[in-house]
Parts: sequence; structure tokens; C-alpha cells
Amino acid sequence: MERTIWDVARQQFFEAAELTDLDDDLKEILSQCNRDLTVRFPVCMDDGSIRVFEGYRVQHNQARGPTKGGIRFSPEVTLDEVRALAMWMTWKTAVVKIPYGGAKGGVICDPHNMSLGELENLTRRYATEISIIVGREKDIPAPDVNTNPQIMAWFMDTLSMRSGFSDTGVVTGKPVEIGGSLGRLDATSRGCLYVAEEALRERGETLEGKTVAIQGFGNAGSFAASLFARAGARVVAVCDSQGGVYNSSGLDVDRLMRLKQESTTMAEYPDGDRVDPKQLLEQPCDILIPAAVEDQITEANADRIQARIVVEAANGPTTPEADRILNERGVTVLPDVLANAGGVTVSYFEWVQDLGSFFWDEERVYRELKRVMTAAYRDMSAELARLQGLHGPRINHRQAAYVLAIQRVARATQLRGIYP
Ligand code: GLU
Repeated sequence: MERTIWDVARQQFFEAAELTDLDDDLKEILSQCNRDLTVRFPVCMDDGSIRVFEGYRVQHNQARGPTKGGIRFSPEVTLDEVRALAMWMTWKTAVVKIPYGGAKGGVICDPHNMSLGELENLTRRYATEISIIVGREKDIPAPDVNTNPQIMAWFMDTLSMRSGFSDTGVVTGKPVEIGGSLGRLDATSRGCLYVAEEALRERGETLEGKTVAIQGFGNAGSFAASLFARAGARVVAVCDSQGGVYNSSGLDVDRLMRLKQESTTMAEYPDGDRVDPKQLLEQPCDILIPAAVEDQITEANADRIQARIVVEAANGPTTPEADRILNERGVTVLPDVLANAGGVTVSYFEWVQDLGSFFWDEERVYRELKRVMTAAYRDMSAELARLQGLHGPRINHRQAAYVLAIQRVARATQLRGIYP
């Protein structure tokens, strides 16, 4: 049977759990998802036809608080993928110590071939279908691949219609006009920047003049390009799913952003060599930022990665085999559960602001985000040193972050006890 991404997530968990003193019962609990909800629902399309869509909402673990995690709209969505993404959210929220468990949702659909009206119908019906397990104190969705603030606005409105009041805390990543937080849009990328800066600081280096290649030009990838460029790095390669460009003397990030606004592919950028999404990973650069989807850096290409630091803006871009190869080659992988946790961290700030009905300025969001990300990096780094002291250099950053997270979730589970 072919290995799924859920098998990968479990493998990562079990390998890290081996490095803890967790007993087998706790391992068994944490290696499973608490709830999988599958929904199939009809949507009226513009031509008058009805189509039935399939979607999921999976909650992995709620020991540390309500579950949290995005919703993706894509033809590739599967239940196993959503399970993996839900488990990763549990570790992610634990690594940055925000009081949530992990969840994820997805609908199998091709949003690029749907009208705005069809997308709204789909979102509202999916929101209603999963509302039986979602709620501001239960499970709080957010954007992920191919979903955005507008979709979160429809989601919030739909659940508010059911509750009879404006239930802003039920979803994050909303537009600021209706209870969103300043700084949420670029939060994932800003978190990547903060952890990359920490990793460089540890080596006595800075971002100044470092070359950066970015795979994926959605929310995470595009803001990463502008933030890393503004922080002094040189963006030498970018791509979206259709292709991209490499130029060793650097790309004009404002021009890339304009192409994106016009919905033009990065492959149209005039000045440089064409690269496809796989080739992008192998371009010469100091820092590689995979910011697309899972399963990109594998045993097939890990020995050709030229970057010294990989910052995982995407969830699950590196397989366990590739992790080992990169570690042996001395490449530092800042793992997704740490590197891209800026998104959910500012989601947490948004939820706190909604519940308190008191909104922060941008400066406060950035300051608090930096505090959280820097502390998480340092916790991970200390754990890495401890584990390498015990087991040697084969231990990598992902395992250190996992051990940290697993211990926190296990501790919460032990304190709460097993009901009844
Ligand atoms: N989808 C983002 C992630 O994978 C954000 C989740 C959230 O804000 O709840 O971390």
C-alpha cells in the first residue's frame, strides 16, 4: 500500500516519541485523531446544476485547549491529508505555547474553476455542515491553501446567522473590518523571518546579502519574498505551481508582487532563467523556503539541495528520508511546526482580541509575535542541544521541536487524566 502523508505524520510522531519517556498508552492516544468528520453536501452552481462536494474537519487533540487549524480548498484534499495537517497543528500550537489543540479542514474542489458566487455557496454550506463540531470555544478554523479573508468572512457570517449574534471569535483570518487582526495576512511569513534571523544569529550571521529561493507564491511565499527582501536578503528564485524564475543577481520583489496582483504566473517574470517548481528547490541559494504543499523535498532530490538553511513555510514539505539526508549534509531544516507557526500565533491574537473586543495596533501584534517566535526558537534550540548531548548529532531540529511539543501535550493529558 502506498504511504500517505498521514503515515508520514505518524512516523514523525513515533520517532520523536522514542526520544521521550512517554509510556505506550500516551503514545497510543497522541498518535490518533480524536474526531474525523466527513461531510457530503450539495451546492447550486451558476448554470443551475447541483454538485455534491466532499469535505472534512478533523480534530486531533484538545488537551491544551480548543482545537485550531485552517481550511483548504483543493482537488488534492484527502481525509488522510487533513488528519496529518490536524496532528501537525497540535505540535505547532504546543511549540509556540499557545493554548490550542490541533485541527484541520478541507473540501475537495477546484476553486480556480469556480465563480465567486459558487465559492460563497460552497463555503456557507460547508460551514453549516461542520458547525456541529466548530465553535469559538471548541474548534476555530482559519485560512489555509486557497482560502482567504473573504472566505473567512462568509464562514463567520454563516455561523453568526445560526447563533443569532455576530460571532467573530468563531474563525480567524477575517478581514480587519469585521474582527480580523492587523498583521494576520503576513504573519506566517513574518514568523519565518523571525526564526530564520534567530538561526542566523546563533551562527553569528545576519540576513544581509543572503540569497533566498522560495517555492510557492501564495500567501506565505509572496509575503516571505517581500519581508526577507526588506530585511536585507536577496531573493534569487521564486515560483508558483505553473513555474518560476531564477536570477543570481536578484529579483525585483515589487514587480513579483505586481504580477501576483494581476494573477500572472511567476514564470512570466521577464528577467532570468525559467525554473519549474521542482527545479526551484535545487537552485543555488543560502536559504530555501518551501512555501507550497507537502512532499516536495524527498530522498529523490535532498542531496541536490544547495541551501544551508531550509525554512518550512509550507506544512510537511520534507519527508523523513529527506530530513535524514539533509541532516547528514549539515543542512539546517527549521521545521514547519516552528517556522510557520506565526500564522496560528497571530490567529490566536485575533481570537483574544475578538473575545475581549479590544483591538491592538500593528506594532503590538509584531512585538508579541516576535516574542512568541523567538522564545519558541530558543526552547527548540535548548532541547536540540539536550537531545544531541544524549543521542549525538543525528538528532535534528524537527525532532527537537516535536519532543518539546509532545511533552507539553502529554503533560496536559496527564494533568487532566483519562475521563471517566
Ligand atoms: N493554516 C495555517 C497553518 O497551517 C494557520 C492556521 C490557523 O491560523 O489556525 O498554520
